[in-house]
Amino acid sequence: MMFPAADYAARLDSARRVMDAHGVDALMVSVGADMPYLAGYEAPQYERLTMLVVPGDGEATLLVPRLEAPAVIDRGAFEILPWDETDDPVAIALGVAGRPATAAIGDHTWARFLLGMQAQSPTTRFVPATPLTSELRAHKDEAEIGWLRTAGHAADRVAARLVAERFSGRTEREIAAITREMIVEEGHEVAAFAIVASGPNGASPHHEPADRVIGPGDPVVLDFGGRVMGYFSDTTRDFVVGEPSAAYVAAYEVLREAQAAAVDAVRPGIAAQDIDRTAREVITAAGYGEHFIHRTGHGIGIEVHEEPYIIEGNQRILKPGMAFSVEPGIYVPGQFGMRIEDIVVVTGDGSEALNLSSRDRYTVE
Ligand code: ZN
Ligand code: ZN
Ligand code: ZN
Repeated sequence: MMFPAADYAARLDSARRVMDAHGVDALMVSVGADMPYLAGYEAPQYERLTMLVVPGDGEATLLVPRLEAPAVIDRGAFEILPWDETDDPVAIALGVAGRPATAAIGDHTWARFLLGMQAQSPTTRFVPATPLTSELRAHKDEAEIGWLRTAGHAADRVAARLVAERFSGRTEREIAAITREMIVEEGHEVAAFAIVASGPNGASPHHEPADRVIGPGDPVVLDFGGRVMGYFSDTTRDFVVGEPSAAYVAAYEVLREAQAAAVDAVRPGIAAQDIDRTAREVITAAGYGEHFIHRTGHGIGIEVHEEPYIIEGNQRILKPGMAFSVEPGIYVPGQFGMRIEDIVVVTGDGSEALNLSSRDRYTVE
């Protein structure tokens, strides 16, 4: 991820504003996506402590194991403080944070370090950092939306190319490998995932592609994505070898309608849960309610799944710049599954679709 150094200074300033509003004295984030967002440094998920400490009234400090320090790019927005093998990094982190009364801890901080901090600073109240960092990360700026758009359009080209592939006689694993190759060929730096779920396997939303050989009449759910400049694509399209069953065709019509209605509903000022309700109402009214077994969507950015989650109970108000998936599905155990997934960005008066490939089912050989 590469943004101008000034962006990180601005993000840290925004973080301090949010900390102030939440009554937090120090923000402490370790491995996980908050650190690259705030500091432009993707810490390896090692056992040694890497931690960005942002005191409300002092300079931010990136505490990093001495041997990792050469890999850190100095953004000028924070101090880089290497610790030596024989140091106690937990004590150093608490010292840099100024023994805070309230510290917000990143979700991806190893329990070992949080337990250590709790033991060494019993008067500090530790709270989750995600309510703070998600407030920042959920509002994408133009540059971030640009990368999401680039990634989305690259994923669309993969969908368009897959139609020309022969599915019949190949295994799910083979189709997954082809998909991953195309994800990179179409401009992603890495292929992040490729779910290929054929026939009855489609009823498992996160099915791991395996050795099942795809045959005539099989529906195949393809859910794939990759990463461009740190930002992800994530789209799902449905392929059928030849003619599907009448039951499949009937359910697909309902799903198509539900997904389109949910995308149409996206606009600023409504709650995230309203999008879930819109999709669920259509599917439930048609009698498939019990087969829609997951939330309607998730935010997307430098993580594939992040806030805002599009789910009943999430009353978070949608605002321009929020990006998330709209991906209702219908899963009939033992028979088939289907899902249609697009990434959308909330605009001033509605939404922009970042996936433009056809949402009709794709007929393949
Ligand atoms: Zn998923
Ligand atoms: Zn997906
Ligand atoms: Zn998704």
